[in-house]
Amino acid sequence: MDKLTVRDFDARDKRVFVRVDFNVPLEDGRVTDDSRIRASLPTIVHLMSQGARVVLASHLGRPEGKVQDGLRLRPVGERLSLLLRRNVPVTGDALGPGTEDAIKRIRPGEALLLENLRFHAAEEKNDPQFAAALASYADIYVNDAFGTAHRAHASTVGIASLLPAYAGLLMEREIRALSSLLEEPEHPYAAILGGAKVSGKLKVLDNLLTKVDVLILGGGMANTFLLAQGKSVGKSLAEHDMVEEARALLAKAEKRGVQVVLPVDVIVAKEVTRGTEYKTLPAEKIPASWHIVDVGKQTLDLIESALRDVRTVVWNGPIGVFEIPVFGAGTRHVARILADKAQAGATVVVGGGDSVAAVQQQGLASSMTHLSTGGGASLEFLEGRELPGIAVLLDRPKPTLVRAESPAPAEPPRVFRPAPRASELAAPTRTPMPAKAPAKSPASATTRGGPMNENPAAATTPAPSAAPAGKPAAPATRKPAASATRRTASAKRKAGAPKTSARKPAATKRKPASAKRAASAGKRSTAKRKPAATKSAARKPATARKSATARKPAASRKAATAKKAATARKAATAKKAATARKAATAKKSTTTRKSTTTKKSSPARKPASARKSPAAKKPASSARRPAAAKKKPRR
Ligand code: ADP
Ligand code: MG
Repeated sequence: MDKLTVRDFDARDKRVFVRVDFNVPLEDGRVTDDSRIRASLPTIVHLMSQGARVVLASHLGRPEGKVQDGLRLRPVGERLSLLLRRNVPVTGDALGPGTEDAIKRIRPGEALLLENLRFHAAEEKNDPQFAAALASYADIYVNDAFGTAHRAHASTVGIASLLPAYAGLLMEREIRALSSLLEEPEHPYAAILGGAKVSGKLKVLDNLLTKVDVLILGGGMANTFLLAQGKSVGKSLAEHDMVEEARALLAKAEKRGVQVVLPVDVIVAKEVTRGTEYKTLPAEKIPASWHIVDVGKQTLDLIESALRDVRTVVWNGPIGVFEIPVFGAGTRHVARILADKAQAGATVVVGGGDSVAAVQQQGLASSMTHLSTGGGASLEFLEGRELPGIAVLLDRPKPTLVRAESPAPAEPPRVFRPAPRASELAAPTRTPMPAKAPAKSPASATTRGGPMNENPAAATTPAPSAAPAGKPAAPATRKPAASATRRTASAKRKAGAPKTSARKPAATKRKPASAKRAASAGKRSTAKRKPAATKSAARKPATARKSATARKPAASRKAATAKKAATARKAATAKKAATARKAATAKKSTTTRKSTTTKKSSPARKPASARKSPAAKKPASSARRPAAAKKKPRR
């Protein structure tokens, strides 16, 4: 699952509607935990610094379609303003003329926050009119609210069919982290599931059982499994009507060879309260009137040894009643083990509001690979379901689409793709597009597939492995680079020749460079040839590029042209290089000649290196990416 993100469009001057998840806890009108606000800062800052006019929208609590003063977003706006060090006004309502005016007044680089979306019942009903009203505020839609991506609401789904829809950076991070747990995770792979209920996590368990090597069960969830093993759990929290399902899951695990770790000793308490009497007992001997509130030391040892070699861990649900410190030892211990694992390079993803809170309480948040900001959303994701709020976002076309005649699935949203501009990261890839793409509109899939892949590939694609894997992406990436090169070349030469002749100059400039190199290499040419071959390999893509693109539509014609061009180029190159050098010599002194040669070779060299660099950088960045993916941004 690879979605286009805020990095894939030029936000300058655009009105961008950003759905964020600012559903933060409030106490006495103050935000008590701003982590959800902080989590979306990268997206907001990115857009503001690009000069977008940002319209932020969120829900807060469950006002169920009615205005509730205690659920106004003003405190959130204040905290956001503090964090951004920029004033972010909050509208009095998500709709209405006042709001429309306020939106019109947003200047580039500024942001505004709409009042709680759920003050309108239409939001949760995904009402088309409400969605249209929200869409009228902007040119582009961005979803950064992973926490609500499992809900098909007006601001998460309805609006996305009316505007070009991109993922925010938080959304991207969530998708990437959670996908890494389902798609080709590194093994050994362990899932730790705990918390209050089996029923809410049954499907997750079922799906994860097909992926993991180790399954660790704790918390209230483990109690139901203890029942399934024929043990009694006293007054402990357990779901008696889920015992059969639990038994079936244990059987499935056994069949698949998954190692299951269940508590062998537990901490039992008279009551689930602070200051109550408690003790450690074997899991077989739970008194009828006591509650299991945590796992015991032996179980923790078992957990630790089961996790010894793991490379991937997903954790959802605390191991005990961690809110009461004496019953939080198991949860704290597991959190520490996982933090160490992540620090040692394993992928550790923690999902679930309470589990994340437990990790945060211990100050271990930044040690983990990823803490999911969406409880329900992350569970649904782990069930293997497609979340509606993610499904509606624009897909990043796959490199193979370049050759495909009809890249069906991503077709409709492309309509929304804003005209690219040459800027920042995207400059080399976007510049050539307007010039060439429109003419090819029927085959636009091919054209579009290319450039759209590029930025992403450079910036985000969890790329394939190094050099060979770089190849499929190469035609797309190089194309624009080549045209950019051509332009530079033709500009410098002032020949003003159209495309075909523009190629010649490029070749012309290349040749003298290699000719010079060959000359200076002298007898050591064999030794030099190797790098030269490498370079020509880097260069060849230019031809390969042409022939690659040519092959499909009119292979033979283009191949012939390519051959002719090549021969013509060689001849022209030799002549022109000589003439150029002579002319230069005539005009300028030796020193000047040197500088002329430098100038001459540099355009040839620069484009060449420029051509190489995307190709060379690609694998490098792709090589870097998996590494980064392994380490994962620790937040
Ligand atoms: P998450 O939010 O991480 O998905 P859950 O909401 O499923 O986790 O469960 C968290 C709750 O489970 C916590 O309030 C915790 O006290 C409770 N819990 C954990 N272990 C037990 C237990 N043995 N008995 C009762 N409650 C438990
Ligand atoms: Mg919870």
